[in-house]
Amino acid sequence: MTLQHHPDDCTLAAFAAGTLDLGEHVAIATHLVGCSQCRGFVRAMEGVGGTVLASLPPTPMSADALLQLEARLSDTSEPQQTESMPPISDTGIPSLPKFVRQYRMGGWQWVAPRVRLRRIDLPVPSKTRVFLLRSGPGTRMLQHSHTGVEMTCVLAGAFEHEGGYFGPGDFDLGDETIDHRPIVKGREDCICLVAMRGDLRLEGLLGRLIQPFVRL
Ligand SMILES: [Zn+2]
Repeated sequence: MTLQHHPDDCTLAAFAAGTLDLGEHVAIATHLVGCSQCRGFVRAMEGVGGTVLASLPPTPMSADALLQLEARLSDTSEPQQTESMPPISDTGIPSLPKFVRQYRMGGWQWVAPRVRLRRIDLPVPSKTRVFLLRSGPGTRMLQHSHTGVEMTCVLAGAFEHEGGYFGPGDFDLGDETIDHRPIVKGREDCICLVAMRGDLRLEGLLGRLIQPFVRL
């Protein structure tokens, strides 16, 4: 699988430095699970960070985000189901990384015709909300804008907008300056993990009608 769209270098560097909030961290880690190219970049950044840290007086800092991720990746055993660990959600989405499935999730909520959303509850408060978004074939997503950054990882299916075609494993970054209206391509549902900071504003008549019912 050749990925076409990756997080930018600044975002990967922030991941390596551990400065992203948890929601954004989850989105980038989801991309890294399927992208050896970006994993290599993060590993290099952590090497640079380690060199810098080694020249400083000892502090309790650590830059081991990738090490932790790789430990999870190389762990092929089924997770232990203990009382202290929440059960793995059976999402029916094989490409959703195991570490995400350990978070508590809500049920699938109606957002719009052929669009469903499933909230992911992070274990600590985060300014970024994380959810799964599932859209049927041919769905044109509602015109929307947002007041902050929106990270999207494609888990299954594909969508397309002015910025290109996004298939499984691809990563898309939107912000308040970008006004995209993606359309779902192909015959299968498009399922994405979305990390969104700020408020979502649905535009148009339908958007205004359903906005009060959509709690994002
Ligand atoms: Zn990548």
